[in-house]
Amino acid sequence: MSVATKPKTLERIFPLSFSAITLYQRCPFAFWCLRSEKHRPRPSKYSIIGTAVHEFIARYLVGLTDTGAEGQFFPTDFALAESLLPQILAGVPSPLREDVRSQCVNFYTAFTLEGPAYAEVHVASDDKLTKAILLDSDLYPPEGSLLHGVIDLLIPVLDGATVRIFDFKTGHRIYSQKEVESHPQLQIYALLSLLLYPQAEKAEINIWFVRYSAVRSAVIYRGELEDLRKQFLAVADRIINEKEFPPIPSSQCSRCDFYEECPEYQRTIRLETAIPPILSEEDAIRLDGEYRMLKHRLKQIEEALRNYAETNGPIETPDGKRGFFEEERKDYGAVTREICEILAGEGIPKSSVWQILTTSKTAVMDLLRKFKLTGVWKEKIEPIIPTQKVTKFKTVKSK
Ligand code: SF4
Repeated sequence: MSVATKPKTLERIFPLSFSAITLYQRCPFAFWCLRSEKHRPRPSKYSIIGTAVHEFIARYLVGLTDTGAEGQFFPTDFALAESLLPQILAGVPSPLREDVRSQCVNFYTAFTLEGPAYAEVHVASDDKLTKAILLDSDLYPPEGSLLHGVIDLLIPVLDGATVRIFDFKTGHRIYSQKEVESHPQLQIYALLSLLLYPQAEKAEINIWFVRYSAVRSAVIYRGELEDLRKQFLAVADRIINEKEFPPIPSSQCSRCDFYEECPEYQRTIRLETAIPPILSEEDAIRLDGEYRMLKHRLKQIEEALRNYAETNGPIETPDGKRGFFEEERKDYGAVTREICEILAGEGIPKSSVWQILTTSKTAVMDLLRKFKLTGVWKEKIEPIIPTQKVTKFKTVKSK
Protein backbone atom coordinates (compact mmCIF):
# COMPACT_ATOMS: atom_id res chain seq x y z
CA MET A 1 0.00 0.00 0.00
CA SER A 2 1.38 3.43 -0.91
CA VAL A 3 1.70 5.80 1.95
CA ALA A 4 2.55 9.42 2.42
CA THR A 5 5.90 10.51 3.66
CA LYS A 6 5.98 11.99 7.11
CA PRO A 7 5.97 15.80 7.20
CA LYS A 8 9.49 17.07 7.76
CA THR A 9 8.78 19.00 10.92
CA LEU A 10 6.43 18.19 13.76
CA GLU A 11 5.52 21.85 14.07
CA ARG A 12 3.25 21.31 11.10
CA ILE A 13 1.43 18.56 12.99
CA PHE A 14 0.89 20.44 16.24
CA PRO A 15 -1.11 21.93 17.77
CA LEU A 16 -3.91 19.45 17.31
CA SER A 17 -7.49 20.58 17.01
CA PHE A 18 -10.64 18.52 17.36
CA SER A 19 -11.09 18.27 13.58
CA ALA A 20 -7.44 17.26 13.06
CA ILE A 21 -7.66 14.53 15.72
CA THR A 22 -10.89 13.18 14.24
CA LEU A 23 -9.39 13.20 10.76
CA TYR A 24 -6.26 11.38 11.95
CA GLN A 25 -8.38 8.72 13.62
CA ARG A 26 -10.46 8.23 10.47
CA CYS A 27 -7.65 8.38 7.90
CA PRO A 28 -4.01 9.21 8.68
CA PHE A 29 -3.32 10.00 5.01
CA ALA A 30 -6.07 12.65 4.93
CA PHE A 31 -4.64 14.10 8.15
CA TRP A 32 -1.20 14.23 6.57
CA CYS A 33 -2.65 16.02 3.54
CA LEU A 34 -4.41 18.54 5.77
CA ARG A 35 -1.22 19.29 7.62
CA SER A 36 1.09 19.41 4.62
CA GLU A 37 1.35 22.81 3.05
CA LYS A 38 0.59 21.69 -0.49
CA HIS A 39 -2.97 20.61 0.21
CA ARG A 40 -5.88 22.88 0.99
CA PRO A 41 -9.36 21.53 1.71
CA ARG A 42 -12.08 22.61 -0.70
CA PRO A 43 -15.10 24.20 0.96
CA SER A 44 -18.25 22.07 0.87
CA LYS A 45 -21.84 23.30 0.88
CA TYR A 46 -22.05 22.45 4.60
CA SER A 47 -18.82 24.20 5.51
CA ILE A 48 -19.93 27.35 3.62
CA ILE A 49 -23.23 27.37 5.56
CA GLY A 50 -21.49 26.63 8.88
CA THR A 51 -18.82 29.30 8.38
CA ALA A 52 -21.35 31.98 7.43
CA VAL A 53 -23.66 31.25 10.39
CA HIS A 54 -20.70 31.15 12.79
CA GLU A 55 -19.41 34.44 11.43
CA PHE A 56 -22.82 36.00 11.95
CA ILE A 57 -23.04 34.70 15.52
CA ALA A 58 -19.52 35.86 16.40
CA ARG A 59 -20.04 39.34 14.95
CA TYR A 60 -23.44 39.63 16.60
CA LEU A 61 -22.12 38.59 20.02
CA VAL A 62 -19.08 40.86 19.74
CA GLY A 63 -21.41 43.70 18.65
CA LEU A 64 -23.57 43.15 21.72
CA THR A 65 -20.58 43.61 24.02
CA ASP A 66 -19.67 46.82 22.20
CA THR A 67 -23.08 48.31 22.81
CA GLY A 68 -23.12 47.57 26.54
CA ALA A 69 -20.82 47.54 29.51
CA GLU A 70 -17.57 45.69 28.88
CA GLY A 71 -18.07 41.94 28.62
CA GLN A 72 -21.84 42.18 29.13
CA PHE A 73 -24.26 40.51 26.76
CA PHE A 74 -27.84 41.63 26.60
CA PRO A 75 -30.86 39.56 25.67
CA THR A 76 -31.32 40.65 22.04
CA ASP A 77 -30.54 43.52 19.70
CA PHE A 78 -32.63 43.05 16.56
CA ALA A 79 -31.31 46.24 14.94
CA LEU A 80 -27.74 45.02 15.25
CA ALA A 81 -28.65 41.54 13.95
CA GLU A 82 -30.56 42.96 11.00
CA SER A 83 -27.72 45.27 10.04
CA LEU A 84 -25.25 42.36 10.08
CA LEU A 85 -27.37 39.86 8.19
CA PRO A 86 -27.14 41.45 4.69
CA GLN A 87 -23.34 41.69 5.05
CA ILE A 88 -23.09 37.98 5.86
CA LEU A 89 -25.54 36.91 3.14
CA ALA A 90 -23.66 38.94 0.51
CA GLY A 91 -20.76 36.48 0.81
CA VAL A 92 -22.92 33.33 0.52
CA PRO A 93 -23.82 31.68 -2.84
CA SER A 94 -27.50 32.32 -3.58
CA PRO A 95 -28.75 28.67 -3.34
CA LEU A 96 -27.47 28.53 0.27
CA ARG A 97 -28.67 31.95 1.41
CA GLU A 98 -32.09 30.92 2.69
CA ASP A 99 -30.63 28.27 4.97
CA VAL A 100 -28.03 30.72 6.36
CA ARG A 101 -30.64 33.45 6.78
CA SER A 102 -33.12 31.27 8.64
CA GLN A 103 -30.44 29.91 10.98
CA CYS A 104 -29.19 33.44 11.78
CA VAL A 105 -32.76 34.60 12.49
CA ASN A 106 -33.34 31.54 14.66
CA PHE A 107 -30.26 32.43 16.61
CA TYR A 108 -30.84 36.10 17.34
CA THR A 109 -34.51 35.66 18.13
CA ALA A 110 -33.86 32.79 20.56
CA PHE A 111 -30.48 33.31 22.16
CA THR A 112 -30.45 35.41 25.31
CA LEU A 113 -27.62 35.76 27.71
CA GLU A 114 -26.49 38.06 30.44
CA GLY A 115 -23.12 38.34 32.12
CA PRO A 116 -19.51 38.62 30.98
CA ALA A 117 -18.82 36.35 28.04
CA TYR A 118 -16.42 36.09 25.12
CA ALA A 119 -17.13 35.01 21.56
CA GLU A 120 -14.79 33.01 19.26
CA VAL A 121 -12.13 32.51 21.88
CA HIS A 122 -8.83 31.00 20.69
CA VAL A 123 -7.24 28.87 23.40
CA ALA A 124 -3.93 26.96 23.20
CA SER A 125 -2.36 24.56 25.69
CA ASP A 126 1.30 23.93 26.48
CA ASP A 127 3.01 20.71 25.34
CA LYS A 128 2.11 18.69 28.48
CA LEU A 129 -1.48 19.90 28.83
CA THR A 130 -0.83 21.53 32.18
CA LYS A 131 -1.82 25.09 31.32
CA ALA A 132 -3.58 27.07 28.62
CA ILE A 133 -3.53 30.63 27.33
CA LEU A 134 -5.91 32.88 25.43
CA LEU A 135 -4.68 33.87 21.99
CA ASP A 136 -5.35 36.79 19.77
CA SER A 137 -7.50 35.37 16.94
CA ASP A 138 -4.92 36.25 14.29
CA LEU A 139 -1.97 34.76 16.16
CA TYR A 140 -0.78 31.22 15.53
CA PRO A 141 -0.47 29.15 18.76
CA PRO A 142 3.05 29.28 20.26
CA GLU A 143 5.60 26.62 19.32
CA GLY A 144 5.23 23.46 21.40
CA SER A 145 1.51 23.98 21.90
CA LEU A 146 -0.26 20.61 21.82
CA LEU A 147 -3.96 21.48 21.66
CA HIS A 148 -5.73 24.42 20.09
CA GLY A 149 -9.43 25.19 20.07
CA VAL A 150 -11.73 28.00 19.03
CA ILE A 151 -14.55 28.13 21.55
CA ASP A 152 -17.68 29.72 20.09
CA LEU A 153 -18.72 31.26 23.41
CA LEU A 154 -16.94 31.19 26.74
CA ILE A 155 -18.48 32.43 29.96
CA PRO A 156 -15.74 32.66 32.59
CA VAL A 157 -16.15 31.50 36.16
CA LEU A 158 -19.12 33.38 37.56
CA ASP A 159 -20.04 31.58 40.74
CA GLY A 160 -16.49 30.72 41.72
CA ALA A 161 -16.88 27.18 40.42
CA THR A 162 -18.16 26.87 36.86
CA VAL A 163 -16.83 27.86 33.47
CA ARG A 164 -19.49 27.66 30.74
CA ILE A 165 -18.85 26.86 27.11
CA PHE A 166 -21.18 27.04 24.12
CA ASP A 167 -20.61 25.41 20.76
CA PHE A 168 -23.00 26.33 17.95
CA LYS A 169 -23.93 23.57 15.48
CA THR A 170 -25.55 24.30 12.14
CA GLY A 171 -26.16 20.74 10.92
CA HIS A 172 -29.45 18.88 10.71
CA ARG A 173 -28.89 16.41 13.53
CA ILE A 174 -29.44 16.96 17.25
CA TYR A 175 -26.96 14.82 19.19
CA SER A 176 -28.20 12.44 21.85
CA GLN A 177 -27.42 13.27 25.48
CA LYS A 178 -24.90 10.41 25.50
CA GLU A 179 -23.10 11.82 22.47
CA VAL A 180 -22.87 15.25 24.10
CA GLU A 181 -21.41 13.78 27.27
CA SER A 182 -18.65 11.98 25.39
CA HIS A 183 -18.11 14.35 22.48
CA PRO A 184 -14.33 14.76 21.92
CA GLN A 185 -14.72 18.35 20.74
CA LEU A 186 -16.47 19.37 23.93
CA GLN A 187 -13.97 17.37 25.96
CA ILE A 188 -11.12 19.33 24.37
CA TYR A 189 -12.87 22.63 25.10
CA ALA A 190 -13.61 21.57 28.68
CA LEU A 191 -9.99 20.56 29.16
CA LEU A 192 -8.70 23.84 27.71
CA SER A 193 -11.09 26.00 29.72
CA LEU A 194 -10.33 24.20 32.99
CA LEU A 195 -6.62 24.75 32.29
CA LEU A 196 -7.39 28.38 31.54
CA TYR A 197 -9.33 28.90 34.78
CA PRO A 198 -7.52 26.88 37.48
CA GLN A 199 -10.03 28.08 40.09
CA ALA A 200 -12.99 26.46 38.25
CA GLU A 201 -14.22 23.17 39.67
CA LYS A 202 -16.17 22.18 36.60
CA ALA A 203 -16.85 23.04 32.96
CA GLU A 204 -20.43 23.13 31.74
CA ILE A 205 -20.52 22.30 28.06
CA ASN A 206 -23.51 23.28 25.94
CA ILE A 207 -24.24 22.47 22.33
CA TRP A 208 -26.68 24.93 20.79
CA PHE A 209 -28.36 23.50 17.67
CA VAL A 210 -28.99 26.75 15.80
CA ARG A 211 -31.40 25.31 13.25
CA TYR A 212 -33.76 24.19 16.02
CA SER A 213 -32.87 26.61 18.86
CA ALA A 214 -32.32 23.54 21.02
CA VAL A 215 -29.59 23.03 23.57
CA ARG A 216 -28.03 19.95 25.16
CA SER A 217 -25.61 20.24 28.10
CA ALA A 218 -23.19 18.16 30.13
CA VAL A 219 -20.70 18.83 32.91
CA ILE A 220 -17.04 17.82 33.16
CA TYR A 221 -15.51 18.02 36.65
CA ARG A 222 -11.91 18.88 37.43
CA GLY A 223 -11.50 15.35 38.77
CA GLU A 224 -11.91 14.06 35.19
CA LEU A 225 -9.13 16.29 33.90
CA GLU A 226 -6.32 13.79 34.41
CA ASP A 227 -8.05 11.13 32.28
CA LEU A 228 -8.67 13.63 29.50
CA ARG A 229 -5.04 14.78 29.64
CA LYS A 230 -3.83 11.18 29.32
CA GLN A 231 -6.23 10.50 26.48
CA PHE A 232 -5.06 13.45 24.36
CA LEU A 233 -1.39 12.97 25.24
CA ALA A 234 -1.74 9.38 23.99
CA VAL A 235 -3.17 10.58 20.65
CA ALA A 236 -0.30 13.07 20.29
CA ASP A 237 2.18 10.33 21.10
CA ARG A 238 0.72 8.04 18.45
CA ILE A 239 1.00 10.77 15.84
CA ILE A 240 4.60 11.61 16.78
CA ASN A 241 5.58 7.97 16.48
CA GLU A 242 3.58 7.35 13.31
CA LYS A 243 5.91 5.71 10.79
CA GLU A 244 3.59 6.17 7.84
CA PHE A 245 0.31 7.95 7.23
CA PRO A 246 -1.67 5.27 5.36
CA PRO A 247 -4.97 5.94 3.57
CA ILE A 248 -7.83 4.10 5.29
CA PRO A 249 -11.01 4.03 3.20
CA SER A 250 -14.20 4.65 5.15
CA SER A 251 -17.39 6.68 4.86
CA GLN A 252 -15.03 9.67 5.17
CA CYS A 253 -14.08 9.03 1.52
CA SER A 254 -17.47 10.23 0.30
CA ARG A 255 -16.68 13.75 1.52
CA CYS A 256 -12.89 13.69 1.41
CA ASP A 257 -11.05 16.80 0.24
CA PHE A 258 -7.90 14.90 -0.63
CA TYR A 259 -9.04 12.19 -3.02
CA GLU A 260 -6.93 13.61 -5.85
CA GLU A 261 -3.78 12.93 -3.86
CA CYS A 262 -4.98 9.66 -2.35
CA PRO A 263 -3.22 6.57 -3.80
CA GLU A 264 -6.00 4.31 -2.57
CA TYR A 265 -8.66 6.38 -4.30
CA GLN A 266 -6.65 6.51 -7.53
CA ARG A 267 -6.09 2.77 -7.39
CA THR A 268 -9.79 2.11 -6.86
CA ILE A 269 -11.23 4.25 -9.60
CA ARG A 270 -8.78 2.84 -12.13
CA LEU A 271 -9.49 -0.69 -11.02
CA GLU A 272 -10.16 -2.83 -14.08
CA THR A 273 -9.96 -6.23 -12.51
CA ALA A 274 -12.91 -8.24 -11.29
CA ILE A 275 -14.28 -7.68 -7.81
CA PRO A 276 -12.05 -9.67 -5.47
CA PRO A 277 -13.65 -12.41 -3.37
CA ILE A 278 -14.40 -11.44 0.23
CA LEU A 279 -12.47 -13.93 2.35
CA SER A 280 -12.26 -12.02 5.61
CA GLU A 281 -13.79 -9.08 7.41
CA GLU A 282 -10.74 -7.05 6.42
CA ASP A 283 -11.54 -7.75 2.74
CA ALA A 284 -15.15 -6.73 3.36
CA ILE A 285 -14.11 -3.45 5.04
CA ARG A 286 -11.77 -2.68 2.18
CA LEU A 287 -14.49 -3.33 -0.42
CA ASP A 288 -16.93 -1.20 1.57
CA GLY A 289 -14.35 1.63 1.41
CA GLU A 290 -14.05 1.18 -2.36
CA TYR A 291 -17.82 1.31 -2.67
CA ARG A 292 -17.91 4.64 -0.82
CA MET A 293 -15.11 6.11 -2.91
CA LEU A 294 -16.88 5.17 -6.12
CA LYS A 295 -20.08 6.75 -4.80
CA HIS A 296 -18.11 9.93 -4.21
CA ARG A 297 -16.80 9.80 -7.76
CA LEU A 298 -20.33 9.30 -9.12
CA LYS A 299 -21.56 12.33 -7.20
CA GLN A 300 -18.80 14.42 -8.72
CA ILE A 301 -19.57 13.19 -12.24
CA GLU A 302 -23.25 14.04 -11.81
CA GLU A 303 -22.35 17.51 -10.51
CA ALA A 304 -20.14 18.16 -13.55
CA LEU A 305 -22.88 16.98 -15.94
CA ARG A 306 -25.49 19.14 -14.21
CA ASN A 307 -23.25 22.20 -14.51
CA TYR A 308 -22.63 21.49 -18.18
CA ALA A 309 -26.36 20.94 -18.94
CA GLU A 310 -27.32 24.06 -17.02
CA THR A 311 -25.15 26.20 -19.29
CA ASN A 312 -25.38 24.32 -22.58
CA GLY A 313 -28.75 22.59 -22.49
CA PRO A 314 -29.48 18.81 -22.62
CA ILE A 315 -26.69 16.42 -23.62
CA GLU A 316 -27.45 14.05 -26.52
CA THR A 317 -26.35 10.68 -25.19
CA PRO A 318 -26.84 7.24 -26.79
CA ASP A 319 -29.54 6.65 -24.16
CA GLY A 320 -31.46 9.86 -24.79
CA LYS A 321 -31.27 13.49 -23.73
CA ARG A 322 -29.74 14.12 -20.33
CA GLY A 323 -30.61 17.46 -18.79
CA PHE A 324 -33.16 19.42 -16.78
CA PHE A 325 -36.76 18.57 -17.64
CA GLU A 326 -40.02 19.63 -16.15
CA GLU A 327 -42.29 16.88 -14.94
CA GLU A 328 -45.57 16.69 -13.11
CA ARG A 329 -45.70 15.22 -9.64
CA LYS A 330 -48.86 14.22 -7.80
CA ASP A 331 -49.22 15.97 -4.45
CA TYR A 332 -51.03 13.39 -2.32
CA GLY A 333 -50.27 15.26 0.91
CA ALA A 334 -52.46 18.20 -0.20
CA VAL A 335 -55.61 16.04 -0.16
CA THR A 336 -54.92 13.62 2.70
CA ARG A 337 -58.16 14.44 4.48
CA GLU A 338 -60.27 14.11 1.32
CA ILE A 339 -58.71 10.73 0.47
CA CYS A 340 -59.41 9.45 3.97
CA GLU A 341 -63.04 10.61 3.69
CA ILE A 342 -63.46 8.77 0.37
CA LEU A 343 -62.01 5.60 1.87
CA ALA A 344 -64.22 5.87 4.96
CA GLY A 345 -67.21 6.57 2.66
CA GLU A 346 -66.50 3.25 0.92
CA GLY A 347 -67.05 1.48 4.23
CA ILE A 348 -63.39 0.99 5.18
CA PRO A 349 -63.21 1.25 9.00
CA LYS A 350 -61.84 4.62 10.25
CA SER A 351 -59.20 2.86 12.34
CA SER A 352 -57.69 1.43 9.13
CA VAL A 353 -58.02 4.70 7.23
CA TRP A 354 -56.11 6.72 9.81
CA GLN A 355 -53.28 4.22 9.78
CA ILE A 356 -52.12 5.73 6.47
CA LEU A 357 -50.84 8.94 7.97
CA THR A 358 -48.44 9.48 5.07
CA THR A 359 -50.78 9.30 2.12
CA SER A 360 -48.59 7.64 -0.47
CA LYS A 361 -50.16 5.93 -3.45
CA THR A 362 -48.76 2.61 -2.22
CA ALA A 363 -50.40 2.99 1.22
CA VAL A 364 -53.78 3.86 -0.29
CA MET A 365 -53.60 1.05 -2.87
CA ASP A 366 -52.65 -1.48 -0.19
CA LEU A 367 -55.72 -0.51 1.78
CA LEU A 368 -58.00 -0.62 -1.26
CA ARG A 369 -56.64 -4.04 -2.21
CA LYS A 370 -57.23 -5.31 1.31
CA PHE A 371 -60.91 -4.31 1.07
CA LYS A 372 -61.21 -5.35 -2.61
CA LEU A 373 -61.99 -1.80 -3.73
CA THR A 374 -59.17 -1.12 -6.23
CA GLY A 375 -61.55 0.57 -8.73
CA VAL A 376 -62.07 3.46 -6.27
CA TRP A 377 -58.59 4.73 -7.08
CA LYS A 378 -59.30 5.60 -10.72
CA GLU A 379 -62.89 6.58 -10.18
CA LYS A 380 -62.73 8.83 -7.14
CA ILE A 381 -59.23 9.47 -5.86
CA GLU A 382 -57.06 10.16 -8.89
CA PRO A 383 -59.27 13.01 -10.16
CA ILE A 384 -58.90 15.03 -6.94
CA ILE A 385 -55.11 14.83 -6.60
CA PRO A 386 -53.48 18.12 -7.66
CA THR A 387 -50.24 18.04 -9.66
CA GLN A 388 -47.11 20.13 -9.15
CA LYS A 389 -44.52 21.02 -11.75
CA VAL A 390 -40.96 20.15 -10.71
CA THR A 391 -37.69 20.32 -12.61
CA LYS A 392 -35.54 17.18 -12.51
CA PHE A 393 -32.14 16.33 -13.88
CA LYS A 394 -32.73 13.08 -15.78
CA THR A 395 -32.41 11.21 -19.04
CA VAL A 396 -35.37 11.32 -21.36
CA LYS A 397 -35.33 8.52 -23.95
CA SER A 398 -35.26 9.62 -27.60
CA LYS A 399 -38.41 8.58 -29.46
S1 SF4 B 1 -10.25 9.15 -0.18
FE1 SF4 B 1 -10.58 7.97 1.70
S2 SF4 B 1 -8.71 6.79 1.96
FE2 SF4 B 1 -8.24 8.43 0.55
S3 SF4 B 1 -7.45 10.10 1.80
FE3 SF4 B 1 -9.63 10.45 1.58
S4 SF4 B 1 -10.53 9.48 3.38
FE4 SF4 B 1 -8.46 8.65 3.18
